[in-house]
Amino acid sequence: MKSVDDHLAEGLAAVGPLPAVDVALLEAADCLLAEDVVSPIQLPSFVNSSMDGYAVRMADVAGAAADRAVVLPVVGDLPAGSVEEVRLEPGTAVRIMTGAPAPVGAEAVVPVEWTDRGVARVRIEQAPQPGAYLRAAGEDVEAGETVLRAGVRLTPRHIALLAAVGRDHVLVRPRPRVVVISTGSELVEPGRRLGFGKIHDSNGYGLTAAAAEVGALTHHVGIVEDDPQVLMSALEGHLAGADLVITSGGVSAGAFDTVKEVLSRLGTVRFDKVAMQPGMPQGFGTLGPDRVPIFTLPGNPVSAMVSFEVFVRPVLRKMWGETNLHRPEVSAAAARDWPSPAEKRQFVRAVLERGSDGSFVVTPVGGQGSHLVADLAEATCLAVVPEQVTQVRAGDMLRCLLLDRARQ
Ligand code: AMP
Ligand code: MG
Repeated sequence: MKSVDDHLAEGLAAVGPLPAVDVALLEAADCLLAEDVVSPIQLPSFVNSSMDGYAVRMADVAGAAADRAVVLPVVGDLPAGSVEEVRLEPGTAVRIMTGAPAPVGAEAVVPVEWTDRGVARVRIEQAPQPGAYLRAAGEDVEAGETVLRAGVRLTPRHIALLAAVGRDHVLVRPRPRVVVISTGSELVEPGRRLGFGKIHDSNGYGLTAAAAEVGALTHHVGIVEDDPQVLMSALEGHLAGADLVITSGGVSAGAFDTVKEVLSRLGTVRFDKVAMQPGMPQGFGTLGPDRVPIFTLPGNPVSAMVSFEVFVRPVLRKMWGETNLHRPEVSAAAARDWPSPAEKRQFVRAVLERGSDGSFVVTPVGGQGSHLVADLAEATCLAVVPEQVTQVRAGDMLRCLLLDRARQ
């Protein structure tokens, strides 16, 4: 039997970060930046006011106070966006709005709140500090400054910065394009009536959502019946433009395990028994002239989702340029005893809680059968029981992989 680590290593070795592409700024959100970004301009690019108020010279307002107000003629109005080059003559004030360029000669801005808001003349009841409420040119970013380095995962704040320095497109690692195919003649689309012996395709939806959560652009193909011809043409039809293919079902030892039957013949996909529970039957390889990587996951819904977590997610993260490939994990004490199969790494669907002393406690959810989707949905982590352990005892410390960022 192949080890979990070997199967993962094989997948990781077959892929690298996707070639960088130049995309429109909003498409870059969440992507990994693939260039150093140098600002061609300084920010602020001109001295401007940070308040609505009056631009003044210090000598004219020195000593202004509530009982000794200074009155100055207002000789101009500067709204934001004003392009006039205005000079502030001694003994005058210019009304100025937030973001408007300061007039030449202005030494401070007196906020409107310190005045009578006069239009022709203004009464100033408090003296500002020199330079008050003036934003200096270049105080944020200097022209020629590197504002972002390659490798940054672009948050909304980074997108705002890129826009501020004038970039409307940027080089990033593209989102991997992932094709998801569910195989099985027993499958019916959710929303359709179930006949006897049929089940809804849950893997297709779960795996597509999981790939999207990693950041992939997903193509949910839907159900393909257990027929070699139909499967082959479905695979061929969806290879173009795919960076990764995921199938579920049809890889065990049954008579109608079509995925295994069809892909074994091509010789580019290897089928292995991987020493894990759940998820033992796994296949990985490449398809077509472009050697598109394909993971053929087992059909049982829990096995499919656990296999995605353990093998597909790290590979997708690597393709998207990430270097930290794995889920965050914590160490937690087992809340009770349970058995674990010999020679297999067990991934136990479990709920993580904090004990009274703040340390983590992990409790398996309901049944561990590979078909139990309701119990899987309840889990917030996968507790990992090492291969050599056959019996977990209450209090044993286990690595727990945290699922679902949003729920922690
Ligand atoms: P297989 O790997 O095709 O032998 O399937 C193993 C088990 O998983 C069977 O009980 C299938 O009915 C079930 N199964 C396969 N594909 C799916 C799917 N897309 N959604 C839900 N269950 C599935
Ligand atoms: Mg099947």
